[in-house]
Amino acid sequence: MPTKFIVITGGVLSGLGKGIAAASIGHLLSSKLKIIPIKCDGYLNVDPGTMNPYEHGEVFVLDDGGEVDMDFGHYERFLGVTCKSSWNLTMGKVFDMVRQKERRGDYLGKTVQYIPHVTDLIKNHIFDIASEEKADLVIVEIGGTVGDIENELFLESVRHLKEAAGRQNTLFVHLTYVPVPYGVNEQKSKPTQQSVNLLKQRGIFPDIIIGRCQEVLTKEIKEKISSFCDVESEAVITGLDVEDIYEIPLVFEEEGLPAILHKKLNIYSPPNLRKWKLLVENLRHPKKEITVAMCGKYTKLEDSYASIVESFNHCSAHLSCKINLKWVETTDLNDPSVLNGVNGVVVPGGFGSRGSEGKIEIIRIAREQNIPFLGLCLGLHMAVIEFARNICGLKEANSTEMDADTPHPVIDILPEQKDISNKGGTMRLGACPADLKDGSLVRSLYNASVASERHRHRYEVNPSYHETLIKNGMVFSGNSPDGRLVEFIELPDLKYFVATQAHPELKSRMETPAPLFHGFVKACLE
Ligand code: GLN
Repeated sequence: MPTKFIVITGGVLSGLGKGIAAASIGHLLSSKLKIIPIKCDGYLNVDPGTMNPYEHGEVFVLDDGGEVDMDFGHYERFLGVTCKSSWNLTMGKVFDMVRQKERRGDYLGKTVQYIPHVTDLIKNHIFDIASEEKADLVIVEIGGTVGDIENELFLESVRHLKEAAGRQNTLFVHLTYVPVPYGVNEQKSKPTQQSVNLLKQRGIFPDIIIGRCQEVLTKEIKEKISSFCDVESEAVITGLDVEDIYEIPLVFEEEGLPAILHKKLNIYSPPNLRKWKLLVENLRHPKKEITVAMCGKYTKLEDSYASIVESFNHCSAHLSCKINLKWVETTDLNDPSVLNGVNGVVVPGGFGSRGSEGKIEIIRIAREQNIPFLGLCLGLHMAVIEFARNICGLKEANSTEMDADTPHPVIDILPEQKDISNKGGTMRLGACPADLKDGSLVRSLYNASVASERHRHRYEVNPSYHETLIKNGMVFSGNSPDGRLVEFIELPDLKYFVATQAHPELKSRMETPAPLFHGFVKACLE
């Protein structure tokens, strides 16, 4: 079978959930096909790694160390694939590649132009991934909305791709918005018509239209969109507003999307949603409830911690437990009652000194009151500092990230990071194994002697303080195979006090929640 391509574009406004739509389409087709997701982003950064979470949401990290768009989190969680860095094609990367080719002389004296040189490069990049991965189906998501200057070259490239891959092998799905204005109480098709017109002006004719709407699209509106936009009315699909993103594959199935995809692409890969449905059912009707304090500094934008939120959703589905996240901004923290009524505390990853003292204080309260605690990357640093100050008696202990002149640098920069000045792609990145200590809680949670989790950091527990920390009762429950780097810590006398240098939230799946989160929620429930 030749490789098939589904290209997903978005219209009207951003934030309609193109990534989740793409991932859900993939999920519906994944039973028999090898599916590879590719995301095209129009910005000129090489990757989102240098962007503030407020600019771009969470930076997702892959096994291979790639720092990529957070939609890759959805792809991995919905498709069960391990993605690669090259599958996120940004305009920054494209221009880098074009310039390298030009300097090498690959263009043989030609004037290098957007069309065909840049568009060919994009198209060939997509074909190369398809053949390297022996993909049955490639899902290409074009970031942004049609009409943005930024994504014009990607749209032109996928138009060419359709010719090259064969019309019968390529499908265009357009996600738009169907408002129901207050007082009018009627589903409106005009934004969809206008957005499809923009797409058609670019030579792209959608095969399927997904209309994001607060209610199921009526037969009438589907027919109207069908006649104005030249798609069959059964190819107009509701993208219903839902509580949980995991409901979207079920909504699409209900709307008859699998059959249309099979027919139009001449494939057959029936959805296998039995287990998924049971888990979604648990999410909808939880039997228990807990509240977890999320103590960070990007709490105003939940997208900054997207994978953590999803990891908790996975635990909810497995433990039939509603998990309320109480967002605690630690920058100006002076409210001693913040943890009242809270069943557990998470200190997530982060950068820079703002809010660090608030986090250390919260960890002290959690430790002293035996409230379950989970620390992620920076959260581990903060826990080690708190322990050094209040248990080991090193009053001014700190991380050199927060205070370069601290007399007790219990957290210090990794030796190999000392001489690095470039910011992009230079942290300790990607999956690294850790040997787990016999008899530790972490080892029993992973039920394995080695755990491989993804990393994104520059600082570590300073080896000069390992002995002091251990002597005072901190257990290093996981170390790098060479023994130098502390990957997991725990305080064994407490109900649940665990932290890791890694980001286990990045590998949590609906079917297999991250062990540290699962253990943490169970402890919160006790
Ligand atoms: N800022 C810390 C470091 O660079 C922690 C990073 C993180 O939490 N991802 O080591």
